[in-house]
Amino acid sequence: MKGAWAIAAAATEIVLIVLGTRAGFPWPLVWVPVVVALALAIAGYRDAAAVSTGPLRTFWRRLVVALSFVLAAALSQVADLATATWSGLPPIGARTLSLYVVGTLLAIAALLRLPGGGRSWRRLTTAVLDVAVVAVTTGIAGSEYMGWFIDKFGVSVSAWWLNTAMMAIAVAGVVVVVKIMSAQQSPVPRAALWWLAPIGLAGPLSTVLMTVLQPWPHLNGSAAVLPFVGLCCVMASRRPAGGVTRVIPSAPPQRGTAIPLVATVLSSVLLATVYLREGHLSTAQVGGTTLLLLLVVARQALALSENATLLDAVEHRATHDELTGLYNRRHFTEAVTPGHTVVLLDLREFRAINDGLGTDAGDALLVAFAGRLTTLAGPGAVVARLGGDEFGVLGPRGSDIADRLVHATAEPLRAAGHDMIVEVSVGIGDDYREAEVALREAAGGRVVRYDASLDRELRQRATLAADLRRALHDGEFHLLYQPIVTLPHGEVYGVESLVRWTLPSGEIVSPADFIPVAEDTGLIVELGAWILDTACAQAAAWPRLHSVAVNVSARQLLDPALPDLVASALARHGVPPSQLTVEITETAVFGGGRALATVKALSALGVSIALDDFGTGHSSLGLLRTCPVDVIKVDKSFVDGLGGAPEQEAVVTALTGIAETMGLRTVAEGVETAAQAERLHQLGYRHVQGFHFARPLPAAAVSDLLAQDQRAAA
Ligand code: C2E
Ligand code: CA
Ligand code: CA
Repeated sequence: MKGAWAIAAAATEIVLIVLGTRAGFPWPLVWVPVVVALALAIAGYRDAAAVSTGPLRTFWRRLVVALSFVLAAALSQVADLATATWSGLPPIGARTLSLYVVGTLLAIAALLRLPGGGRSWRRLTTAVLDVAVVAVTTGIAGSEYMGWFIDKFGVSVSAWWLNTAMMAIAVAGVVVVVKIMSAQQSPVPRAALWWLAPIGLAGPLSTVLMTVLQPWPHLNGSAAVLPFVGLCCVMASRRPAGGVTRVIPSAPPQRGTAIPLVATVLSSVLLATVYLREGHLSTAQVGGTTLLLLLVVARQALALSENATLLDAVEHRATHDELTGLYNRRHFTEAVTPGHTVVLLDLREFRAINDGLGTDAGDALLVAFAGRLTTLAGPGAVVARLGGDEFGVLGPRGSDIADRLVHATAEPLRAAGHDMIVEVSVGIGDDYREAEVALREAAGGRVVRYDASLDRELRQRATLAADLRRALHDGEFHLLYQPIVTLPHGEVYGVESLVRWTLPSGEIVSPADFIPVAEDTGLIVELGAWILDTACAQAAAWPRLHSVAVNVSARQLLDPALPDLVASALARHGVPPSQLTVEITETAVFGGGRALATVKALSALGVSIALDDFGTGHSSLGLLRTCPVDVIKVDKSFVDGLGGAPEQEAVVTALTGIAETMGLRTVAEGVETAAQAERLHQLGYRHVQGFHFARPLPAAAVSDLLAQDQRAAA
C-alpha cells in the first residue's frame, strides 16, 4: 500500500518538474511529493521495526531517526527558499546542509553497526578504508568540479565545501551497502539492501540536477531527488515474501576489490588532465592524492594480512578436529616420526554413553577427555582426536608419557553434569602401526604395549578368519553339552551347549580363540544360526531336560532377525520355548538400544534369558531392572573365592538373596571341587555347573547321564 503511494509521489514529482518549466509555476508544489514520500518512508521503517526483533529492529529504528533528519532538512530547505531572496542558484542554508549531513551520517552509521556474521575488525577496517578511498577520490574530483562550478556561478566557498562533503558521504554510503552485502551474513534481507544502495547517489544526483535545472532555479535539485529517496526507503522496508527475514547465506569472504585500483586510476587520470591543462595542481589536489595513496597502501596491507589470517584458518581447519580443537588424524599420522612413543586411546562403550545420555553429553565427554589428555600429555606432546572415540598422543620416546596417560584415565570425568568413569583401551608402540596393533589387542579396556608376538597373533587371527569361513562350509563344528546339575545330589537339570571346532588335522580349537574372530568378521551370525538349530534339534531329543542353554554373542543380538530365527528353530524341532535358555553377557545389553530390544523380543517368545559371567561386567544390578532376566550365572571368579576370606564370599552370599527377592534362578559356574559345591549348597544355591560334576560332553554322553538319573530315581 505504502509502495503504491510512494510510486505515485515519485511519478507526481516528475510531472511537476516538467510542468514547472512553464512560467508562473507555484514552486512550493514540487515539495509536496517530497514530504509525502519521506513521511511514507518513515512510517514504513517504523512498521518494519515493529515486526522485527534483535539487531534488525535496532537497524530499522536508527533509519527512522536518520530519515527524520532528512525530512527536517527538506522542510528547512523549503524555509530557506521561502525567506531568502535569490538570483542564479537557489539558496541553501547552513542549517539545511547540516541536517542533510547528519541524516546521511546516521544512515551510514546504522548500516555500519549492522552485525555481519564473521565480520572481523580487519574486515570492518578494510571496509572503512575503502569508503575513505572512495570519499577522497570523490573529494579530489569534486574539488575540480567545484572550482569550475564556483567560477561559473560564484557561490559561497564554504557552502560548497559542505556540499562536497555530502557528495563524498553519499557515495561512501553506497560503498558501505556494497560492503555489507559482501559480508558473510547480514540480518537485513538482501532485497532491502539493494533498495538502500541507490540512495547514496541522491546527494551527487541533486547537485548534478541543480546545474541542469539552473534555468528554473525554483525547481530544486533536492526536491527532484528526494521523492525517489523516499520511494527506495519504502521499498526497502517492505517485508520479504512470506514475512520471514532470512539471514543471508554466507558468501565466500571477499578480500580483494577493485575499489583501490579504480580510485587510484581515476584520480591519476584526473590529475594528469588538470596538470596538462592548468600547468599546476592545487594544494587540495596534491594533499588529497597523498592521502589517497596512504589509504590505498594501508588498505592493501590490511587485505594482505587478512589473507594470511585466512590461510592460517584454512590450515587450522585442515589439521584440527572441530569438536575438541585437538589435532586431527591427518596431522597426527604425519607428525609421527622415528623416536616417538605413540599412544592410542579408545574410549570403551562410548556408543552406549552416546545412546544413553544423548549426543550432547557424548560430545561433552569427548571434549572433557580431550582436555584431560592435553593436560597430562604436557606441552611437548601432540594430542589428536583420530575420529569417533579414538585419541592419539605423541611424545618423545623413553618419556613416561604412556604411564601418565594410563593413570589418568582412572579418574572420573565430569561432563554435561555427570561424573563418568570411562574405561579406556590403550595401545602403545614406537610407531603408528605398532600402536594400532597394540590397541586392537587392548580392546576391552586394557593397556597393551606392542611387541613382536602381537604381530604374530594378528597374522594368526587373519588366517583364523579365513579358516573359519571354510570350516563353516565344511561342517567342522560340533556342539558339546555341559550339564547343569541340581544340588546336593547332582541330577542333571539342564545343559549349556558349547561349540567346538575340530580342524582336519584333528586338533581342537577353543571357542575362546575363535568366537572373538567370528564376532569381528560377522561370521558369528551364520555360525550362531547353525548352533541354535543344532541345540534345538538336540533339546527335542531330551524332553525331560528343563533347560538347554545356548550362548548368544553381542554381535548376534544386533541382528533384528534373531528372534525370528529362534522362533523358527524352536518350531522346526517342536521344542517348547520354555526349554530354551539364551545366555547373554552384561556388556552386550548394557548399552540398551537394539541389543536390548532383541533380548526383550526373545523373552517375549517365552525363551529364558540368562546373564552370563554375572558380576564381571558393570552395572550388573541395574541391568536386572531394564533387561528381562530369568537366570543369573554367577561367574567362576566368585566361586573360586569360596572358602577363603569372608569378603570373598560376600558377593556369592548377597547374590542368592537378591536373586531370591527378584524371583530369579541362579547358576554358579566353574565349580571344580566338592568343597565349593558344599559351600554353595549351604549358601542356598540349587543349580551349579563345573568340572566337578561334568565337563562339556558329547550329546550321547549326556543321554547316558540322563538315563542314569532316571534309573536312580526309579
Ligand atoms: P562361557 O559361556 O562362560 O562358558 C563356560 C566356559 O567355562 C566353557 O569354556 C566351559 O568349558 C568352561 N568351564 C565349565 N566348567 C568349568 C570349570 O569347572 N572350570 C573351568 N576352568 N572351566 C569350566 P569353553 O567351552 O571353552 O567356552 C569358552 C567361552 O566361549 C564361553 O564362555 C562362551 O563365552 C564362548 N562360547 C562357547 N560356546 C559358544 C557358542 O556356542 N556360542 C557363543 N556365542 N559363544 C560360545
Ligand atoms: Ca555361557
Ligand atoms: Ca560363563
